[in-house]
Amino acid sequence: MDGGCLYEATEEVIAHHEAGHAVIRVLFRIPFTKVSILSDGDTAGRVVPLPNRTVNVSNDRAFYRMTMTALAGFAAEEQFVFGESVWVERIGADDIEDLFGLWKIRNREYPVHIEDPSLRDQYQKAIDAQWANFLLDSRCEAEDLVCEQWRAIETLAKALLEKKEMGASEVRQLVRPLLH
Ligand SMILES: [Zn+2]
Repeated sequence: MDGGCLYEATEEVIAHHEAGHAVIRVLFRIPFTKVSILSDGDTAGRVVPLPNRTVNVSNDRAFYRMTMTALAGFAAEEQFVFGESVWVERIGADDIEDLFGLWKIRNREYPVHIEDPSLRDQYQKAIDAQWANFLLDSRCEAEDLVCEQWRAIETLAKALLEKKEMGASEVRQLVRPLLH
Protein backbone atom coordinates (compact mmCIF):
# COMPACT_ATOMS: atom_id res chain seq x y z
CA MET A 1 0.00 0.00 0.00
CA ASP A 2 1.07 3.62 -0.25
CA GLY A 3 0.39 6.90 1.51
CA GLY A 4 -0.71 10.35 0.37
CA CYS A 5 -4.02 10.27 2.14
CA LEU A 6 -6.52 12.18 4.32
CA TYR A 7 -5.85 10.09 7.37
CA GLU A 8 -2.85 8.53 9.00
CA ALA A 9 -1.79 5.11 7.75
CA THR A 10 -1.60 3.51 11.18
CA GLU A 11 -0.63 -0.12 11.56
CA GLU A 12 -4.33 -0.96 11.97
CA VAL A 13 -5.17 0.78 8.68
CA ILE A 14 -2.35 -1.07 6.93
CA ALA A 15 -3.50 -4.40 8.40
CA HIS A 16 -7.05 -3.87 7.09
CA HIS A 17 -5.75 -2.80 3.68
CA GLU A 18 -3.58 -5.91 3.28
CA ALA A 19 -6.30 -8.14 4.77
CA GLY A 20 -8.67 -6.77 2.09
CA HIS A 21 -6.30 -7.81 -0.69
CA ALA A 22 -5.60 -11.21 0.87
CA VAL A 23 -9.20 -12.19 1.68
CA ILE A 24 -10.36 -11.46 -1.86
CA ARG A 25 -7.41 -13.49 -3.16
CA VAL A 26 -8.51 -16.43 -1.01
CA LEU A 27 -12.12 -15.95 -2.14
CA PHE A 28 -11.14 -16.08 -5.81
CA ARG A 29 -8.38 -18.67 -5.32
CA ILE A 30 -5.63 -16.42 -6.64
CA PRO A 31 -2.40 -17.83 -5.21
CA PHE A 32 0.08 -15.82 -3.14
CA THR A 33 3.09 -16.52 -0.93
CA LYS A 34 2.47 -14.42 2.18
CA VAL A 35 0.91 -11.26 3.53
CA SER A 36 2.93 -8.83 5.61
CA ILE A 37 2.43 -5.55 7.45
CA LEU A 38 6.15 -5.09 8.07
CA SER A 39 7.65 -2.13 6.24
CA ASP A 40 10.30 -3.01 3.67
CA GLY A 41 11.28 0.62 3.11
CA ASP A 42 9.22 0.96 -0.10
CA THR A 43 5.83 -0.11 1.16
CA ALA A 44 4.24 -0.36 4.58
CA GLY A 45 2.72 -3.76 3.82
CA ARG A 46 2.14 -6.13 0.95
CA VAL A 47 0.67 -9.37 -0.31
CA VAL A 48 3.51 -11.22 -1.99
CA PRO A 49 2.46 -13.03 -5.19
CA LEU A 50 3.98 -16.34 -6.26
CA PRO A 51 7.38 -15.84 -7.90
CA ASN A 52 7.64 -15.92 -11.69
CA ARG A 53 3.93 -15.91 -12.21
CA THR A 54 2.35 -13.50 -14.64
CA VAL A 55 -1.00 -11.99 -13.79
CA ASN A 56 -3.79 -13.70 -15.67
CA VAL A 57 -6.10 -11.26 -17.44
CA SER A 58 -6.73 -13.54 -20.41
CA ASN A 59 -10.52 -13.53 -20.02
CA ASP A 60 -13.20 -11.33 -18.48
CA ARG A 61 -13.61 -13.49 -15.40
CA ALA A 62 -9.88 -13.54 -14.62
CA PHE A 63 -9.64 -9.80 -15.21
CA TYR A 64 -12.64 -9.17 -12.93
CA ARG A 65 -10.99 -11.17 -10.16
CA MET A 66 -7.71 -9.29 -10.48
CA THR A 67 -9.60 -5.98 -10.48
CA MET A 68 -11.48 -6.84 -7.28
CA THR A 69 -8.25 -8.01 -5.64
CA ALA A 70 -6.47 -4.78 -6.58
CA LEU A 71 -9.27 -2.52 -5.30
CA ALA A 72 -10.07 -4.49 -2.13
CA GLY A 73 -7.12 -2.95 -0.23
CA PHE A 74 -8.38 0.62 -0.34
CA ALA A 75 -12.03 -0.48 -0.01
CA ALA A 76 -11.14 -2.36 3.19
CA GLU A 77 -9.12 0.46 4.70
CA GLU A 78 -11.88 2.98 3.98
CA GLN A 79 -14.48 0.65 5.47
CA PHE A 80 -12.27 0.41 8.57
CA VAL A 81 -11.52 4.17 8.86
CA PHE A 82 -14.97 5.55 8.01
CA GLY A 83 -17.21 2.59 8.89
CA GLU A 84 -18.83 2.81 5.47
CA SER A 85 -17.98 2.91 1.80
CA VAL A 86 -16.23 6.21 1.19
CA TRP A 87 -13.98 6.42 -1.82
CA VAL A 88 -10.94 8.62 -1.40
CA GLU A 89 -9.27 9.69 -4.65
CA ARG A 90 -5.97 7.84 -5.01
CA ILE A 91 -4.25 9.45 -7.93
CA GLY A 92 -0.89 7.81 -8.51
CA ALA A 93 -1.38 5.14 -5.83
CA ASP A 94 0.44 1.90 -6.69
CA ASP A 95 -2.68 -0.30 -6.55
CA ILE A 96 -4.52 1.99 -8.97
CA GLU A 97 -1.53 2.40 -11.30
CA ASP A 98 -1.03 -1.39 -11.39
CA LEU A 99 -4.70 -1.88 -12.22
CA PHE A 100 -4.47 0.78 -14.95
CA GLY A 101 -1.63 -1.25 -16.46
CA LEU A 102 -3.75 -4.43 -16.45
CA TRP A 103 -6.74 -2.56 -17.85
CA LYS A 104 -4.63 -1.30 -20.75
CA ILE A 105 -3.44 -4.83 -21.49
CA ARG A 106 -6.99 -6.19 -21.30
CA ASN A 107 -8.29 -3.42 -23.57
CA ARG A 108 -5.23 -3.42 -25.80
CA GLU A 109 -4.82 0.31 -25.25
CA TYR A 110 -1.18 0.51 -26.07
CA PRO A 111 0.33 3.93 -26.67
CA VAL A 112 -0.39 4.94 -30.23
CA HIS A 113 1.31 7.55 -32.30
CA ILE A 114 -1.14 10.09 -33.66
CA GLU A 115 0.30 13.01 -35.64
CA ASP A 116 -2.60 15.43 -35.40
CA PRO A 117 -2.49 17.04 -31.89
CA SER A 118 -6.26 17.59 -31.71
CA LEU A 119 -6.96 13.96 -32.69
CA ARG A 120 -4.37 12.84 -30.19
CA ASP A 121 -6.10 14.91 -27.55
CA GLN A 122 -9.50 13.43 -28.45
CA TYR A 123 -8.10 9.93 -28.32
CA GLN A 124 -6.53 10.54 -24.91
CA LYS A 125 -9.76 12.01 -23.55
CA ALA A 126 -11.75 9.00 -24.76
CA ILE A 127 -9.32 6.60 -23.07
CA ASP A 128 -9.35 8.63 -19.85
CA ALA A 129 -13.16 8.64 -19.80
CA GLN A 130 -13.34 4.87 -20.37
CA TRP A 131 -10.84 4.27 -17.59
CA ALA A 132 -12.67 6.62 -15.19
CA ASN A 133 -15.97 4.80 -15.86
CA PHE A 134 -14.38 1.44 -15.41
CA LEU A 135 -12.77 2.51 -12.12
CA LEU A 136 -16.03 3.97 -10.81
CA ASP A 137 -18.03 0.80 -11.54
CA SER A 138 -15.31 -1.49 -10.26
CA ARG A 139 -14.78 0.33 -7.01
CA CYS A 140 -18.50 0.06 -6.20
CA GLU A 141 -18.30 -3.68 -6.79
CA ALA A 142 -15.16 -3.96 -4.68
CA GLU A 143 -16.84 -2.06 -1.82
CA ASP A 144 -19.80 -4.48 -1.91
CA LEU A 145 -17.47 -7.45 -1.93
CA VAL A 146 -15.48 -6.09 1.01
CA CYS A 147 -18.70 -5.51 3.00
CA GLU A 148 -19.85 -9.07 2.26
CA GLN A 149 -16.54 -10.49 3.47
CA TRP A 150 -16.01 -7.99 6.31
CA ARG A 151 -15.89 -10.59 9.08
CA ALA A 152 -13.07 -12.45 7.35
CA ILE A 153 -11.19 -9.20 6.67
CA GLU A 154 -11.47 -8.03 10.29
CA THR A 155 -10.38 -11.41 11.60
CA LEU A 156 -7.34 -11.52 9.32
CA ALA A 157 -6.43 -7.89 10.15
CA LYS A 158 -6.45 -8.73 13.88
CA ALA A 159 -4.24 -11.77 13.31
CA LEU A 160 -1.86 -9.67 11.16
CA LEU A 161 -1.55 -7.02 13.88
CA GLU A 162 -0.42 -9.75 16.23
CA LYS A 163 1.83 -11.77 13.89
CA LYS A 164 2.91 -9.04 11.40
CA GLU A 165 3.42 -11.66 8.68
CA MET A 166 1.46 -14.78 7.69
CA GLY A 167 1.99 -17.47 5.08
CA ALA A 168 -0.72 -18.16 2.51
CA SER A 169 -1.80 -21.52 3.97
CA GLU A 170 -2.17 -20.00 7.44
CA VAL A 171 -4.25 -17.18 5.94
CA ARG A 172 -6.45 -19.63 4.02
CA GLN A 173 -7.05 -21.74 7.11
CA LEU A 174 -8.16 -18.72 9.11
CA VAL A 175 -10.21 -17.05 6.40
CA ARG A 176 -11.98 -19.84 4.51
CA PRO A 177 -14.51 -20.80 7.24
CA LEU A 178 -15.55 -17.11 7.43
CA LEU A 179 -16.15 -16.58 3.71
CA HIS A 180 -19.62 -16.56 2.26
ZN1 LIG B 1 -2.63 -2.29 -1.70
